[in-house]
Amino acid sequence: MSMIKRRTVLAGLAAAAAMPRWVHAAAPADGVDPALVKFIEGLPKTEYHVHLEGTLEAEMKFALAKRNGLNLPFADVAAMKASYQYHDLPSFLAIYYDGMKVLLKEQDFYDLAYAYLGKAASQNVIYTEMFFDPQEHLKRGVAMEAVIMGITRARRDAEAKLGIRSQLILCFVRDLPADTAMAALDAALPFKQHLVGVGLDSDEAGHPPEKFAAHFAKARANGLHVTAHCDVDQVDTLKNIRTALVDLEVDRIDHGGNIVQSPELVQIAKQQGMYFTVCPTFSGTLRRGLTQPVDVVRSMLDAGLKVTISSDDPAYMASEYINEVLLRAVTRSNLTRADLAGIARNGFEAAWLPAADKAALIAKLDAYLASAV
Ligand SMILES: [Zn+2]
Repeated sequence: MSMIKRRTVLAGLAAAAAMPRWVHAAAPADGVDPALVKFIEGLPKTEYHVHLEGTLEAEMKFALAKRNGLNLPFADVAAMKASYQYHDLPSFLAIYYDGMKVLLKEQDFYDLAYAYLGKAASQNVIYTEMFFDPQEHLKRGVAMEAVIMGITRARRDAEAKLGIRSQLILCFVRDLPADTAMAALDAALPFKQHLVGVGLDSDEAGHPPEKFAAHFAKARANGLHVTAHCDVDQVDTLKNIRTALVDLEVDRIDHGGNIVQSPELVQIAKQQGMYFTVCPTFSGTLRRGLTQPVDVVRSMLDAGLKVTISSDDPAYMASEYINEVLLRAVTRSNLTRADLAGIARNGFEAAWLPAADKAALIAKLDAYLASAV
């Protein structure tokens, strides 16, 4: 290889490494049968793996900063979006946590949650269980009551005005000290009637799920469900999936796609009837440990696992919400209409709702499937 050619190749590799992960060459619907696009748009859906702070769009950041008298280090929305350059989980999280500093008052949390619920309802999500990261807000002096009650007020309004039902999952930020997670749980328990569960997010490296055994036990004792992120391609990912499934007996797993690399763990998950909240566009970002298949949804379905699909942090992923994410999954995993109907059904069956409520939601799905052409 000539020196010039070699330099060009190296420059190309460097550019590829610096490319934001959320940049896609094609539009979500490119190459997808228009009838399938329409089917996805109309499909009644759930969403269980969406971080409210990850739905904080740049436009709203500017509006909240203005209302709260904060200066942002960006000239405009375009400059802010151009700064969303991440290449792994830590670099993503640095942008994500910095972005949420504009959230200070009860009304800010209301606006954030109502905007997400409006977007989700417009894409026919009829039920969602949403994550929030209170430790990050408590650390900035925001009261837990402002966070939970702002979101709760938005949930009530969205159900009344938009017909979308929702519940709330408090996430422990796993790379912060365990005692701050316990303090957040204690601060939230007076409002536990507004919560349905606890989860575990942020950087898994060095923060395995067993760090939160006591938190999960206390949450359970207070009637809350338990879920945990099992990050994609992390070091010790299979060990941590095993801990979550076997030792902590979580009720759901967020991500967890590397499980297809362990037939034994697949068997355990199937025996438990475990549901996974998969965010398929996140594949290929981390690469600290194993590498999850690009067609992770297909791999999990073929393994007989119960897959649901979610958008994770759409404001930081090219503003692709559930319909766009489903279209990406269709392309990457060659999903059929039957696959998509099955994934939607899994979503309703996985709901942390009373059986009669779930049945009512499933009846809506069945009515749609019976009428869809
Ligand atoms: Zn997540």
